[in-house]
Amino acid sequence: MTQLALRSIRKSYGALEVIRGVDLDVAEGEFVVFVGPSGCGKSTMLRMIAGLEDVTDGTIGIAGQDVTTTAPAKREIAMVFQSYALFPHMTVAENIGFGLKLSGLAKEEISRRVDEVANTLQISPLLERVPRELSGGQRQRVAIGRAIIRQPKIFLFDEPLSNLDAALRVQMRLEIARLHARLGATMIYVTHDQTEAMTLADRIIVFNKGKIEQVGAPMELYERPANTFVAGFIGAPS
Ligand code: ADP
Ligand code: MG
Repeated sequence: MTQLALRSIRKSYGALEVIRGVDLDVAEGEFVVFVGPSGCGKSTMLRMIAGLEDVTDGTIGIAGQDVTTTAPAKREIAMVFQSYALFPHMTVAENIGFGLKLSGLAKEEISRRVDEVANTLQISPLLERVPRELSGGQRQRVAIGRAIIRQPKIFLFDEPLSNLDAALRVQMRLEIARLHARLGATMIYVTHDQTEAMTLADRIIVFNKGKIEQVGAPMELYERPANTFVAGFIGAPS
């Protein structure tokens, strides 16, 4: 089943056209990775999917519903950024539970779900700490916890690991793969890290100047890049 349908998406900032006609279907449970040079529109595309930014033209469908003008909170999407954006004065438990508090869920139920999410991410011993007492990797886990607890249909990750050191990046990459297997959720993941793209993706979407240059499974792109631009991004010798 198609979970996300992007149709003829365009986006301009004044005279600057940054997305120039993007069409893409993402299947339920699929792990899709966006790659492409800095400034090609990857983050803008994610923000439009999340509803944080209006589209200039085109439509966005989620699970068969047109959500092009639907408010972000009603899209059943959660986004994880590279800068962790945790509330500094709240504990880990409060940070993770915050979104549910707004939804009016009972305190006991929130607490139960926070415990469950913390268990999944292996951060249960950290629940009473505040963000400044956490390492970078632990903070990123909390940020992911805040996304998971809302049980979204679609997760959007914008270079979530790029602030972490190499060893931690490897560990977190494996955890994201495990999370995907466990939740079965649809994931759209932006990265400039080839290893992340090759190992996480069901399909890689190569962007260039606001358009899709090529779409394919990692090995397809690796073995048959459409041009030297794609080859440069996937790492095949060109
Ligand atoms: P990427 O994530 O692929 O690096 P972005 O989506 O951040 O690219 O940016 C795409 C283009 O849109 C860039 O040229 C950027 O400067 C421009 N851009 C992004 N956001 C805005 C904005 N709010 N106002 C004007 N230009 C923007
Ligand atoms: Mg970006």
